Amino acid sequence: MRRSPRAILLAALTAVLGVAGGPPSPARAAAAPVVGRLTWFGQSCFLLETAAGTRVLIDPIPKNIGYPLPAGLRADLVTISHEHADHDNLAMVTNKPHVIHGLTADKKGWAHIDERFRDVSVRSVGVYHDDRRGAQRGLDTVFIFEVGGLRIAHLGDLGHTLDDDQLEAIGSVDVLLVPVGGGTTLDAYQATRVIDQLHPRLMVVPMHYQTDANTSKDLAPLDPFLERKANVRREAGPTVVLTSVKARPATEIVVLNWR
Ligand SMILES: [Zn+2]
Repeated sequence: MRRSPRAILLAALTAVLGVAGGPPSPARAAAAPVVGRLTWFGQSCFLLETAAGTRVLIDPIPKNIGYPLPAGLRADLVTISHEHADHDNLAMVTNKPHVIHGLTADKKGWAHIDERFRDVSVRSVGVYHDDRRGAQRGLDTVFIFEVGGLRIAHLGDLGHTLDDDQLEAIGSVDVLLVPVGGGTTLDAYQATRVIDQLHPRLMVVPMHYQTDANTSKDLAPLDPFLERKANVRREAGPTVVLTSVKARPATEIVVLNWR
């Protein structure tokens, strides 16, 4: 069958722009611009490295929770969601980075961050560490990092589902880093509700759950969170590459290996 010039033009445009439905072909995925990469060190600690070379360390962990710490780690920026010992270990880095605390020095208020650091925009939204407006475990901070058009939200030790004001303040999210292990944060069920609330466009990365490295006794393992979840991808290592893909058939849950 001969194809009309219009059909040929459409096919060519589709190939160039990658606007067809369905899963991205390997060629198209490979062509998507790399925005950076994300490495999980365990608990809620990630290193976000942008394509321009900026290194953002999120919620640095101490040695005593069981994960091996990388030697000689350097960061340009460190963000701290709240001042608990498994989230604020600045000694994890060997240099003197710029540090952004989500809470005020007395821990009784939020710092309300909205600033630019090199190629990364950083915003914060105040939330709570429990479902009683902080009465049990205090305040927590959601950090939203925007780089290369990609919005990455880290929920810290969020302990409740989000209200309309919080959802509006956080805005649209492409990559969501969410605690799922329960105990002092969202459990598997609540984390799933928060994911439904935020609708991250590309990726969900679970964090703050029990692993064979973690010495904590009050965390659940990952399995309850993964039950009945579709689109789960397990990375062999701790790192996932972030690309500014325009469309995906469904959000992926990316499980990183702390090793
Ligand atoms: Zn905490």
